[in-house]
Amino acid sequence: MATTMTAATSPRTKTPPALELRDVRASYGRIEVLHGVSFVVPPGTVFALLGPNGAGKSTVLKVASGRLTPTEGCMHIAGTHLNGAPAQKLVRAGVCSIPEGRGIFPNLTVIENIRMMTYRGGLSAGDVEDQAYARFPKLGQRRTQLAGTMSGGEQQMLAMARALTTDPSLLLLDEISMGLAPLIVAELYELVGQLAAEGISILVVEQFARTALAIADYAAIMVHGRITRVGQPEDVTDEVSAAYLGAGA
Ligand code: ATP
Repeated sequence: MATTMTAATSPRTKTPPALELRDVRASYGRIEVLHGVSFVVPPGTVFALLGPNGAGKSTVLKVASGRLTPTEGCMHIAGTHLNGAPAQKLVRAGVCSIPEGRGIFPNLTVIENIRMMTYRGGLSAGDVEDQAYARFPKLGQRRTQLAGTMSGGEQQMLAMARALTTDPSLLLLDEISMGLAPLIVAELYELVGQLAAEGISILVVEQFARTALAIADYAAIMVHGRITRVGQPEDVTDEVSAAYLGAGA
């Protein structure tokens, strides 16, 4: 049982947390959907944010990626207070998000989708491609295929390959399992675990709670715009299965 963030006291947190939200409130127009959300993503860890539809999980990602400014509370990225900072500033701070729907260009080929990312970091098109194909050999075999004609899992790999070209320190992932077969989801999560082992901090919003919990270092359950439980995966599993994620969890 852990309703306070044990991660903050972890020995891994000598450097500031990759992301910290403190009492964040956020609204769409006059309707408040986050009612004081606090949690900490320690560096190099996977933090799973779980909860039922409409709980506010994607809204947390919008706040963390600068697409929605909190009405109250604080957001820190690697120790820097960045409330209300424009999305470009957060990208410069190392934040990269893969939105629900993946954000790839379906009418462009794999190569074109990847080369498009060279404008960000000053890397050559060849370097960016080499890195992507080294990590995702399947993409290398499909470089001239239109992205929209690839399988859902391949498209998600392409989205991740594009995100990794930005050399992120904090990766925000929204429902990467959406519409994918369990085997593909397991493969993607294996990669998420590897990325964390390489030092990238990852906040993942997920409906497949068990898959995410299997690789997560920390997890939080969110209901109606509030965090109801946070801790290590074993601290939250009872609440996940008992409460509201249903048979698919
Ligand atoms: P899901 O798992 O279904 O995606 P979620 O936990 O990610 O749900 P959010 O998408 O963050 O939840 O939505 C939280 C609440 O905010 C919901 O009531 C939703 O209807 C509302 N909401 C989300 N986006 C907007 C928007 N652009 N304008 C108005 N209300 C919104």
